[in-house]
Amino acid sequence: MNILVINCGSSSLKYQLINSETEGVLAKGLCERIGIDGMLTYQPEGGEKEKSEIAMPTHTEAINAVLAALTNEKSGVIKSLSEVGAVGHRVVHGGEKFTSSCLINDESMKAIEECNDLAPLHNPANLIGIRACQELMPGVPMVAVFDTAFHQTMPDVAYTYGIPYEYYEKYKVRRYGFHGTSHSYVSKRTAEIVGKPYDQMKIIVCHLGNGASISAVNCGKSVDTSMGLTPLEGLVMGTRSGDLDPAIIDFVGKKEGLSLDEMNEVLNKKSGMLGISGVSSDGRDLEAAAETGNKRAQLALDVFDYRVIKYIGAYAAAMNGVDAIAFTAGIGENNIKMRKDVCSSLTYLGVKLDEEKNNVRGEERIISADDSKVQVLLVPTNEELAIARETLALVK
Ligand code: AMP
Repeated sequence: MNILVINCGSSSLKYQLINSETEGVLAKGLCERIGIDGMLTYQPEGGEKEKSEIAMPTHTEAINAVLAALTNEKSGVIKSLSEVGAVGHRVVHGGEKFTSSCLINDESMKAIEECNDLAPLHNPANLIGIRACQELMPGVPMVAVFDTAFHQTMPDVAYTYGIPYEYYEKYKVRRYGFHGTSHSYVSKRTAEIVGKPYDQMKIIVCHLGNGASISAVNCGKSVDTSMGLTPLEGLVMGTRSGDLDPAIIDFVGKKEGLSLDEMNEVLNKKSGMLGISGVSSDGRDLEAAAETGNKRAQLALDVFDYRVIKYIGAYAAAMNGVDAIAFTAGIGENNIKMRKDVCSSLTYLGVKLDEEKNNVRGEERIISADDSKVQVLLVPTNEELAIARETLALVK
């Protein structure tokens, strides 16, 4: 069966068409500038990347453009839309309602809508993408795969904040965690690569990209994760602050004359490695700047690494041990020095990195020494494949 995987943002949309038997990607691409003008990127398997300007006043035109490209006589990969067996949609927030992926119907749409409050920037866009697909592909089964679902196994001690309990009761303020599809996929792959039963391992997954989070996966269940009610908590990210003293919001807001909304914008878009360095949110730019002696760029990289080291220590404590640590996502997969620096602070856990094995980018492999007590791995994440698998499991 061919499964169309859709990851819909407010003005962009990523897609992949995956053959569920071979798990190969038949075509993939991106729609950008939806609601502004519109740009489609389309790349068929083994073919050249094509870019075309197509008017996309709404997500419906964007998805229409994707479907037209997939069925195009020249470079299309399927003859007609009847060859799309199902659609898997990434949905950011499933609140406490969704502990796993679900088939999309009127009832689940309503329940997803009820989570909009918890992710006002993401969930409404995800719903628009679902509705546009329903309009253009009536009768094709669709599945919602939630970023939060994998972390719903967290115990109350891990998800409860130290604030009046009534805020949880009234507004569901608690830790939810994100990147769940990636943490689930990478932790399972880690167990497979190491060759031990998933339900008997203590794994720490470091998903380090522009958005970054760490999770503790004990016996196949997420027991803690660094992102919280929203993706702002935890690690220092590209432009997000991660953990900070909440009093800073009031203190800086008053000094700078910024409203709560404006402070929220500062913490989400102008903080993190961008805020510290004043150079860039991108790890590559920071490495280049640090090499030319830019001290703040170096500080941003050091602060990033330090926070990762602290969270790994915290999660080893939360699970009373750790068998494997996996690095994934843009920085986790590609930044050799970051992995080396982080691991050099984990010798107390019995981590011993093999520098030669670590000298690699984006390749699935064990990078710790043979006599390392804790196995360290590089596991490229594949959220689209994970969404396609979940979708297949529900529509079969
Ligand atoms: P993601 O959000 O997973 O796409 O990751 C984006 C981050 O990965 C950015 O900070 C990039 O600088 C970093 N990244 C991607 N490719 C590389 C690379 N080859 N070397 C170092 N960092 C990289």
